[in-house]
Amino acid sequence: MMHAHYIGGSWHRSAAAAPNVNPSDTTDVIGEYALGSAAEVAAACEAAASAAPGWGRSTPLVRAEALEAIGAEILARRAALADLLAREEGKTLPEALGEVTRASQIFRYYAAEALRPGGEYQHSLRAGVEVEVTREPLGVVGLVTPWNFPLVIPAWKIAPALAFGNCVVLKPAELVPGCAWALAEIIARAGLPAGVFNLVMGTGSIVGDAIVNEPRVAAVSFTGSVAVGRAILLAAARRAAKVQLEMGGKNPLVVLADADLDAAVRVALEGAFFSTGQRCTASSRLIVEEGIHERFVAALSEAMRAQVIDDARKPGTTIGPVVDARQLAQDLRYLELGKAEGSRLVLGGETPARERPGFYLTPALFTETRVEQRLNQEEIFGPVASVIRVRDYEEALSVANATEFGLCAGICTTSLSHARHFQRNADAGMVMVNLPTAGIDYNAPFGGRKASGYGAKELGPAAREFYTQSKTAYVRGG
Ligand code: NAP
Ligand code: MG
Repeated sequence: MMHAHYIGGSWHRSAAAAPNVNPSDTTDVIGEYALGSAAEVAAACEAAASAAPGWGRSTPLVRAEALEAIGAEILARRAALADLLAREEGKTLPEALGEVTRASQIFRYYAAEALRPGGEYQHSLRAGVEVEVTREPLGVVGLVTPWNFPLVIPAWKIAPALAFGNCVVLKPAELVPGCAWALAEIIARAGLPAGVFNLVMGTGSIVGDAIVNEPRVAAVSFTGSVAVGRAILLAAARRAAKVQLEMGGKNPLVVLADADLDAAVRVALEGAFFSTGQRCTASSRLIVEEGIHERFVAALSEAMRAQVIDDARKPGTTIGPVVDARQLAQDLRYLELGKAEGSRLVLGGETPARERPGFYLTPALFTETRVEQRLNQEEIFGPVASVIRVRDYEEALSVANATEFGLCAGICTTSLSHARHFQRNADAGMVMVNLPTAGIDYNAPFGGRKASGYGAKELGPAAREFYTQSKTAYVRGG
């Protein structure tokens, strides 16, 4: 089946299309998906710009009901969507089910947010004058999303954008158009006016670039790599468009000697390797105090050996394949680099054969690593973690912060004072105490600092900051 773009309330085919391939079985093609051009982006932006004044004036109740309907439909199609997600991205079926449920909850959450008062009344300094600060929509927003959360990241941008009265042009990652297309199909049935939501699939260099440089796009929300994010920031700056960037991570998990060993191993295993380590919030640097180092490495290795690396949709699989050949090649390059840098590969890093041909890689653990080596400075984005041995808490904190990134930092400890000190002094947008670095709530702000993030935070009430602009009105009554 040929999957078309959704522009101005109808489906549009392109001259070009690309196959969507299952990373658990490369002989399995999910479907053909249209590859857009700059002309399709222009048409989508035209449709969105035409719809923007009407949608911006729609009542909060109209928007809330549309978002409720989308959330309910996602939930009703939960099983099919999770199957598609696992099939096109390679995360396990339970992980995919969790992501689908989360996407549904986010639409329902922003349905409620649409109804909350967004303004403020202020007493004027002058008699007889009233001051009101209100939040207005931006108009057309461009959303550019990565491949690792094909449903929930589009959802967490689309839902607040629509809730606060904006029109949307979405470009999903070329590797995973399936979930975005399925979401567009659901949104198309929710009764939104034509042009309020548009989907243009295709490559970043053509479709993404056209969105970022489109004069009718008032704001761009991007999640992806640092290099692309920074290029988008520069392009948007030329026309002073609003930008929000969520980028990579090299997230530390500190394990102190006083930690509960079993709990720390669970936290590290989940944070470093689940979703095949392909999470911006993955714990890729395990910073371990020497008093617990040997026991921790032994117990984590044992837990890693118990993992089942296989087809994402097979019952019992705990870790699915890497997303594609290019990402697998990158993971393998870093495994070689780690060894060349003198670190010890304790286990993993093999590419096992399975029933069907896929991009399988066993989770890998390095020890004897140093904070400054490339293995510990560059984002790998795969099932590879390295252990950095430290003398004490003070060294652990300084190693945790010795990175250009600042997305999420975690600590496992039973010491309240170390936990609290770490919470205050970790230079990251998010901190986790005795919890995996990956795994967040949608009603709290999400985002990083330093090279990991730029602009307003996402999710929770914080999303209003990005998806609206404020107006201050001074009114003298009669
Ligand atoms: P990416 O290569 O930066 O791509 C992200 C999106 O940008 C894709 O849709 C991509 O299109 C598009 N793009 C590429 N070049 C572009 C350009 N010149 N102009 C406009 N758009 C362009 O990232 P990825 O490989 O999909 O995802 C992995 C990265 O995302 C990792 O670095 C990871 O840490 C990060 N990530 C961050 C978060 C977070 O919230 N902090 C969450 C998830 C992932 P294509 O489809 O053609 O690639
Ligand atoms: Mg990419």
